[in-house]
Amino acid sequence: MDAYWLLCLFVFVFAYLLNICYITVFYHRGLTHQALELPDGVRRFVVATGGWITGLDPKGWSCMHRLHHRYSDTPKDPHSPVHKGFFMIAYQQLLSYKAVLRGLIKRDPEYCNVVKDLDFEVSWMNRRGLWYLPYVLHGAIGLILTWQVGWLLGSAYFLGIMSHPVQGWMVNSMGHALGYRNFNTHDNSKNNTLVALLVAGEGYQNNHHRYPRAAKFSMRWWEVDWGYTMCLGLASLGVVKFDSSANLRDLDQPEPWDLVTNQVS
Ligand SMILES: [Zn+2]
Ligand SMILES: [Zn+2]
Repeated sequence: MDAYWLLCLFVFVFAYLLNICYITVFYHRGLTHQALELPDGVRRFVVATGGWITGLDPKGWSCMHRLHHRYSDTPKDPHSPVHKGFFMIAYQQLLSYKAVLRGLIKRDPEYCNVVKDLDFEVSWMNRRGLWYLPYVLHGAIGLILTWQVGWLLGSAYFLGIMSHPVQGWMVNSMGHALGYRNFNTHDNSKNNTLVALLVAGEGYQNNHHRYPRAAKFSMRWWEVDWGYTMCLGLASLGVVKFDSSANLRDLDQPEPWDLVTNQVS
């Protein structure tokens, strides 16, 4: 493999890791489930930059994902292969995300109450209908790399940084359709090893639905959650905080956001 191919591979992996770090560590385990604490400055940085890095609004993503946990695999689930099928879910997750953003912007209580504890707004880009700006930014960077270096490098960057629709589809479809179960949850969540390996442990949906407050999604000795490894690395740098010694019994409680919502409704 020559140096150019290695550079393309490095750029793809770096961009993929940056995107998945925002989604699985900051958005999912941090903002949505509060399995990790984000110090104030980090939280503000994530909220300010998350939309630009991932193309996904942190409040919109958190709201949609909490609705997924609340209504998992029922007709009200924003994305379920049980009701929409394995491939149609890719389109359903996009439609649901747009609906959630519209609901939050219009201050519809059905959506706002679910994220009442998140003290920041939907980004100005989404409020003004400029959701496409991050895609334009990353497309422009990809084109500049193509123009200056080569199409393979430009494509590696763009596909790595904008990989979330494919990551999301794999987790939302296979994680609720194909795999094994460690826990008898009320949904169709599954543990899918391939998806877990590709998407930072997110494939362990059955484990995660049983213990959503746990930062670690792997539960058996042979399950590998490298998203949790990222959490440990970031914790050692002080970027996130959590109690890595907490046992599952301590974490087997309703999530704080669910309590807040239930008090309101
Ligand atoms: Zn799920
Ligand atoms: Zn979750």
